Amino acid sequence: MTKYLNVVVGLPVDGPFTYMVPEQYRDIVSVGKRVWVPFGRRNEIGYIIELLEEVKIPDEKLKSIKKVIDSEPIINKELLSLTKKIAEYYCNSWGESIEAVIPPGLKKGKVKLVPREKSEKIIPDDDFKKDFQLNKIQKKAFDSIKEKIDSSKHSTFLLHGITASGKTEIYLQSIREAHKMGKDCIVLVPEISLTPQACERYTARFKDKVAVLHSKMLNSHRFKEWQKIKEGNASIVIGPRSAIFAPVKNLGLVIIDEEHELTYKQEDVPRYDARKVAKMRAEINNAVLVLGSATPSLESYYKAKKGVYELLHLPERIRKRDLPEVQIIDMKDEIRKQRSHNPVLSIALQEELKKIIDNKKQAILFLNRKGFATYVHCIKCGYEERCEKCNIALTYHSGKNKLICHYCNFQKDVPEVCPRCKSSYLRKHGKGTEKVVSDIKKIFPEIRVVRMDTEATAKRGAHKQILDKFKKHEYDVLVGTQMIAKGLDFPKVTLVGVISADTSLNLPDFRAAERTFSLITQVAGRAGRGDKKGKVIIQTYNPEHFSIIASRKHNYEEFYNKEIKIRKNSDFPPFTNLANITFRGPKEDKVVSIADEVCDLFSKNIKSKKIEILGPAPSAISKVKNKYRYNIILNSKNVNDIIKVIKKTIGNTRRIKGVYIKIDVDPQNIL
Ligand code: ADP
Ligand code: ZN
Ligand code: ZN
Repeated sequence: MTKYLNVVVGLPVDGPFTYMVPEQYRDIVSVGKRVWVPFGRRNEIGYIIELLEEVKIPDEKLKSIKKVIDSEPIINKELLSLTKKIAEYYCNSWGESIEAVIPPGLKKGKVKLVPREKSEKIIPDDDFKKDFQLNKIQKKAFDSIKEKIDSSKHSTFLLHGITASGKTEIYLQSIREAHKMGKDCIVLVPEISLTPQACERYTARFKDKVAVLHSKMLNSHRFKEWQKIKEGNASIVIGPRSAIFAPVKNLGLVIIDEEHELTYKQEDVPRYDARKVAKMRAEINNAVLVLGSATPSLESYYKAKKGVYELLHLPERIRKRDLPEVQIIDMKDEIRKQRSHNPVLSIALQEELKKIIDNKKQAILFLNRKGFATYVHCIKCGYEERCEKCNIALTYHSGKNKLICHYCNFQKDVPEVCPRCKSSYLRKHGKGTEKVVSDIKKIFPEIRVVRMDTEATAKRGAHKQILDKFKKHEYDVLVGTQMIAKGLDFPKVTLVGVISADTSLNLPDFRAAERTFSLITQVAGRAGRGDKKGKVIIQTYNPEHFSIIASRKHNYEEFYNKEIKIRKNSDFPPFTNLANITFRGPKEDKVVSIADEVCDLFSKNIKSKKIEILGPAPSAISKVKNKYRYNIILNSKNVNDIIKVIKKTIGNTRRIKGVYIKIDVDPQNIL
């Protein structure tokens, strides 16, 4: 008989909040169920986190719950304590982070959870499709993972294997091992575009033991898969970052494929990084965590080098298939050759496209996502404007007609002539990529081109349709944003082109070089998956940049060694942690003054020199949907110091005088 209980709510408020339980509900309340509670002037959904026999507050001061929504808990104790940890780290409220865990339909209290009869559908193992015989190198990596799975000890592996080196085969066999031990597995994939092909391989092998979760699913469908997992009828879960919260009972193995991808960070409230959450969850459950990538994030590789993670290396492609030849095209020469100020397709790329048509093969052309910041560079010598202090590309702000470092707010005028070669060939760049499709059509009227970007795939299913048609060779060329840069496997693709490596190289972000390296490596991995050797063409004004040179040689180690030194010298992750605090509002002066006020408060609260404050500075994309945006970046060797000072300075305040405040711990994207 429970007379009182504590709930948290999905709002940026502390809590927990104590309520009385009316007589008729006292037998049915339990931890993890939802209840309706009066909250302020409204009713809110409360998540029960604790049942209480007695409380210090007198009854007449307490409100009563209105109703119990669920007949059984929607979140178990393990996930409850996990959400508490997440809330603390990412400066969310506990209730907010619970809402990351439950299916979206349940947040609004609409869908009801009814217990169903448990179905007895156990598939015998030999019904699964057969595994490949692992090669020696794969076997060695697999054995290390197997040993940890068998002994139920938590351990984190970084599986660094070039594209098509057989990583997925290792995942599949590790899953089988965990399955044999009666354990559940979660497999995270970066994006929905990967899921159709990825899922096929898992479902082909493990049939209906697999549950698939993804964000473009209808809520009702997603809910059904979720329930299948909760009832123990699926033991292998595949999905994007949110699948890390799948309600499996006996977690033994978590696999994060393409672990370097930014999509593992959830950018909206409740913010979390699925890699960090996976680590927390694996630790709680004594489960094994496998991070896999051809281009590991610098953070992960650094940890592996220090021995925090166990490094497994697959240096060769299966059947020794050659890596594609990567050719770097210096666009500075193309200006001269083509007598054009804005050449889109280099002559080499045009020639390769012609071969594609003649040989009835296919090509993928990659162009960067739209709406990025504008940078200034010299098309004669390749010089680009950077902040001396932060080593970040300066962003051109047309309103102020200035170049701005959006980390530290350093500002300068756009120079008249190039500071390096003294020519007048400084150009503003960042836009105009749609031109690619029309240019290709102009040069090759008979070519069948399809574009794939967020616009073209806004409709449910559009994505798969385009890919299916491309696979059937109904198109010759696929032009797309980075959503096509990963995972896809088309045997007829022998040519991959990157229209401009500079868009990522000049991102105003300290990870710009890392992203460029991984981008080129990933797209190169798309070429020549079939029997014919592939060709990759990278167009850039910066052919001497180390990230481009290393990626041409497919040499991660070389890239890492250079980049890690830069990070160390400029005090950026993995040597420090950052938090980005964004201020957003319709009036710029208001946004600035609130940001200044909060910045002063930070200075007061930060007693030691252990936390550096950068900004406030306008965001690289300083105005979005008519809202002005300014950032303050906190940088420290100790993330807990940052979290503490944020809690002390901002607490749960998310709005001051019409200015919205967003807190992002370990930001992956500071735009
Ligand atoms: P990655 O995940 O590293 O890109 P995959 O696991 O997809 O690599 O392997 C690349 C290709 O080689 C796939 O078609 C896969 O089925 C095949 N493959 C993987 N391991 C083996 C093996 N041991 N023997 C034969 N073929 C294999
Ligand atoms: Zn120059
Ligand atoms: Zn700066």
